Amino acid sequence: MVYAHEFGHIALGLPDLYSYQIAYKGPADWREAAVYVGPWDLMSRSNERPQIGAWGKVHVGWISPNRVLEILPGQEGRANLEPLEKSTSGTQAILIYLNSSTYFIVENREPIGHDSVLPDEGVLVSYVDESKYWHGNGPVVIQDANPENLSRWQLSHPTFKIGPGAKSEYVNQTYNLIVSLLGKTSDNSYIVDVSTQGRTKTQTQPFATQYQVQLLLVVMAVVVVAASITIANRKRKKRQGYGCASLVREGTRKLR
Ligand SMILES: [Zn+2]
Repeated sequence: MVYAHEFGHIALGLPDLYSYQIAYKGPADWREAAVYVGPWDLMSRSNERPQIGAWGKVHVGWISPNRVLEILPGQEGRANLEPLEKSTSGTQAILIYLNSSTYFIVENREPIGHDSVLPDEGVLVSYVDESKYWHGNGPVVIQDANPENLSRWQLSHPTFKIGPGAKSEYVNQTYNLIVSLLGKTSDNSYIVDVSTQGRTKTQTQPFATQYQVQLLLVVMAVVVVAASITIANRKRKKRQGYGCASLVREGTRKLR
């Protein structure tokens, strides 16, 4: 299987997707360098050796441009995202462009074929920076859906899914990006909705709720401040009262 990885370099021109910086330190476990994509790509470091991920497949042309949904800044889109390991003429990658060298790539990893060795299944969202193509600098970084108390290289459950306890939405506020899984079909495709303008009109409910919570917090803060001012004033008046009374007593004593 090491041969397959080397084939990726020599025949396909694909780079390593693990960290050279960590690999050079000679970690106790060779997989510790796999901090960018964990065990989810043949060009990373893992014992499992799955297939080449969507990024590599788009690069070498195994996924042709007509099977990629491309979304430009400000655009929205929806795709029936088919499993990466499936032989299909359908869509197998979504590219969401940020600028000339960076974008997000979305892929569907189901436990079939080479991908049956993966630790989990579902939709992967990765951040890509093409300027980091060579030298183990991490051109592809998986956005972990479920960061756990594990080392980053293990990336056991980074996928988005539909179902109880699963995360079905990737949100990146820096780019106003929302990748939502709307459903899963009987052939294991995910219906993926992409918005690059934050919450759209059809999704106003969560935004309204968030706004209402903020408004409630402001009202509560005003009430607390007003109450403490009132209490402080009362205390001051009381103190002043005592002060005057004792002065008066003092004065009357002197007068006697
Ligand atoms: Zn290599």
